[in-house]
Amino acid sequence: METKTKKVQFVIKSSKFCNLRCRYCYEFLELGNREAITLDQLKQMYKHIASYYLKLEHPVEIEFIWHGGEPLLQTPDYYWQTFDQQQQIFAELRGNITNSVQTNLTLLSKKHIQLLRSGFDGVGVSVDLFGGLRVNQANTDSQKIVLNNMNRLREENILFACITVLTKLNLPYIREIYKFYESRNISFRILPLFKGAFDGQHTGFEIDDNDVLKAFCTLVDLWMESDQLVAVSPLIEYIAQILHYYTPNCEPYFYNKLEWESVYLVNVNGDIYSYADAYNSNFCHGNLFTTAMEEIVLGIAHQKAIAAAEERIISTCTSCRFFGSCSGYPVAELSIPNNQIDKQGRIYCHREKEVLQHIEIRLIQAGIIDPIKGSLNNMELGSLSKSLAAIPTLDSPV
Ligand code: SF4
Repeated sequence: METKTKKVQFVIKSSKFCNLRCRYCYEFLELGNREAITLDQLKQMYKHIASYYLKLEHPVEIEFIWHGGEPLLQTPDYYWQTFDQQQQIFAELRGNITNSVQTNLTLLSKKHIQLLRSGFDGVGVSVDLFGGLRVNQANTDSQKIVLNNMNRLREENILFACITVLTKLNLPYIREIYKFYESRNISFRILPLFKGAFDGQHTGFEIDDNDVLKAFCTLVDLWMESDQLVAVSPLIEYIAQILHYYTPNCEPYFYNKLEWESVYLVNVNGDIYSYADAYNSNFCHGNLFTTAMEEIVLGIAHQKAIAAAEERIISTCTSCRFFGSCSGYPVAELSIPNNQIDKQGRIYCHREKEVLQHIEIRLIQAGIIDPIKGSLNNMELGSLSKSLAAIPTLDSPV
């Protein structure tokens, strides 16, 4: 029997240093710090990762997602050298190691173009389209430069996806945002504003959960009305979950953090966290520059993070009718906003469930779900499943 490949992503904070001062940035207090992970530290990190994943019985795909600050402030040579290190250290996994970068795309020399074309396997561009919050130190909006550079990438046939942070300031333009990406056939992720670097950082552009819910439902409607389907994350994941929910005898999905953790974050100093607990010193799993991955995975801190995630799933998801189609990942990895956690640590999963229900209603209206039989109408489903299969997914969790 063929063993399924499992994927793990390492979000690497190469440096916090940045040429922008986006007003919502959760790294805001460290954006002037030039400290970067050295090539020697990267080498140690790869060795620790390789020694663990190469021993597993099933095949593994490892993705490094380079993050900052602005990761392209490190020289292109830094990345070429580290890709060489990867080639040597992960020789046995060749083809199963990929690298993506999440950039503000304000710097785009010929060397960067070459790096984005031939070095990285994926490029994510951060751009909000409305709101003017992505500014430099002189408080000048970076957007004009970014849009020009996006055009240059398109001229160079370099594929990229975008991440748009949803705030009160671009919320009224959700339709325009969708149309912008749709007209250019660019996949995008809508990332609701989350906790900042200090109290009061988000005053004036904070959003609440109802705002996010409304935006997501509007995007679902736009997506369903559109002839030109672009991948909008996380909505395509939600749509797939509803299709799964109405497919008889489908094997359920449950997020099992103990069995497989799919995303880790590595800070500039090598400290490694689960994505849910980023920078929470109580849940730091250890240091990947100095410690073997196996020790980290089996270590007390990691086991504590696993137990906390399991508890969240048990107290929140087991009574949810979508559990098994939704794996519980949003609750386990805390993509639920803090204001929906009560004093006992119980989570009220409002947004996910409401969006799933909205999609369910829209698919019933479209004749794709037969509510009487409680299953999918395969005739109507044809075009939708083809469209879902045709659109590339957006893997970056951030
Ligand atoms: S919708 Fe929310 S409560 Fe239901 S399974 Fe998913 S994360 Fe858990």
